[in-house]
Amino acid sequence: MSHPDTTTSPETKTRPWWQRIPLTLQIVIALVAAVSVGIALGAGNPSPSNATLINNLAIPAELVLKALRALATPLILVAVLHTLMTTNIPGTTGRRLFVLLLTNTTVAILVGLFVANVLRPGTWGNVATSTNTQITSQSLDPWGLLKDAVPEAVLKPLVDNNVIQLIVIALSFGIVLRGLKSEQIAQGKNGYQPIEDVIGILFEAVVRILNWVIALVPFAVFGIVAKTVAKEGFAPFQSLGAFIIAVLVALLLQACYYLTRVKFGSWVDPLKFLAGGSDAFLTAFSTSSSAAAMPITFEVLQTKVGLRESSAALGALVGANFNNDGTALYEAMSALYISQLIGQHLSLGQQVIVILTSIFASVGAANIPNAGLVTMTLVFTSVGLPTQYIALLVTVDWFLDRCRTAINVMGDMTVSTLLDGKKPRTVDEA
Ligand code: ASP
Repeated sequence: MSHPDTTTSPETKTRPWWQRIPLTLQIVIALVAAVSVGIALGAGNPSPSNATLINNLAIPAELVLKALRALATPLILVAVLHTLMTTNIPGTTGRRLFVLLLTNTTVAILVGLFVANVLRPGTWGNVATSTNTQITSQSLDPWGLLKDAVPEAVLKPLVDNNVIQLIVIALSFGIVLRGLKSEQIAQGKNGYQPIEDVIGILFEAVVRILNWVIALVPFAVFGIVAKTVAKEGFAPFQSLGAFIIAVLVALLLQACYYLTRVKFGSWVDPLKFLAGGSDAFLTAFSTSSSAAAMPITFEVLQTKVGLRESSAALGALVGANFNNDGTALYEAMSALYISQLIGQHLSLGQQVIVILTSIFASVGAANIPNAGLVTMTLVFTSVGLPTQYIALLVTVDWFLDRCRTAINVMGDMTVSTLLDGKKPRTVDEA
């Protein structure tokens, strides 16, 4: 989802000096401090007198996760409404765009689940499962899924954090509001404008609150890492290392899939695609935000890859709002990883639910840093996985977010390139 530009807001300009230290650096400092404190507190052999202190170290992470869970649903709702009301999608191309987006995202999730099932990163190390984990067993029930997609009350999905029902509500209202807007424009009326403004402002408000929570992430990382090192030593990080490797392998496979599609589905040479897109990939990697990379993606698609402006706009500006393949892949892999880690394996039926909710969660993820972490809470809830384990993922998210954001941008560029077709643009079209 797109988001309003908050980088030049007055709030940003008046930030105190410590908030101007890049988040990544803050997290690295938190990690170093946490490891030292964890070692000082026993590194796997804690003294019983420190037990309360060690347990309390997890409080910031619990609070951050609670806040992220609370923000996930309003964020998805207003982001979908905002995008549907403000973006311009032409008719038949819209259908083609939709099919491309859905195929790419589904492939991304399947790649993620395949790699997680083969490499089984969650079994590479031991983590003491301190929390009582109970996975509700769910079998594959397509009719039940369809029935569950319709909420009992309009506001219920917001309260229950049910992502599929929420997207149904958001899409229904979004499509209707969009239709009403076009009718009013055709009649020369502008009654839709106040609603559009309210949705825009609500969106900006949710994103700003999200930024406050994200500013607290270094404290959460400090607490959870210090507690884990103190209680269990370094064994859990062995499995996190395996998880990082597995995610990187899956993202690489997804990149190969894009290049193959570009080769056989468009006139563009995959190498030119890679070289031309490098500025966009690097911006995505360095900012962790595909929204920040969006103008650059749009620009390089035209100037360096050589696409028509209309195809560049559809993939990089319109599709980008719904298309987060890297995020979808990551969310599905995280659910599987945590299920392996705590020894509660997900059945095939549950993995299908993970596929569906990851598609919706990635559609609802804003194109800003760490947004995937927010909507991940919804994927976990859908299969009864304990969301407190997301705290463990927070420690590596600063790095993996960068990698999946680059893939999100590559996915948008692939969609643009495929829409551009098999014939290069002519001089007249340039
Ligand atoms: N940072 C990602 C993006 O901007 C979203 C995510 O957190 O997965 O595309």
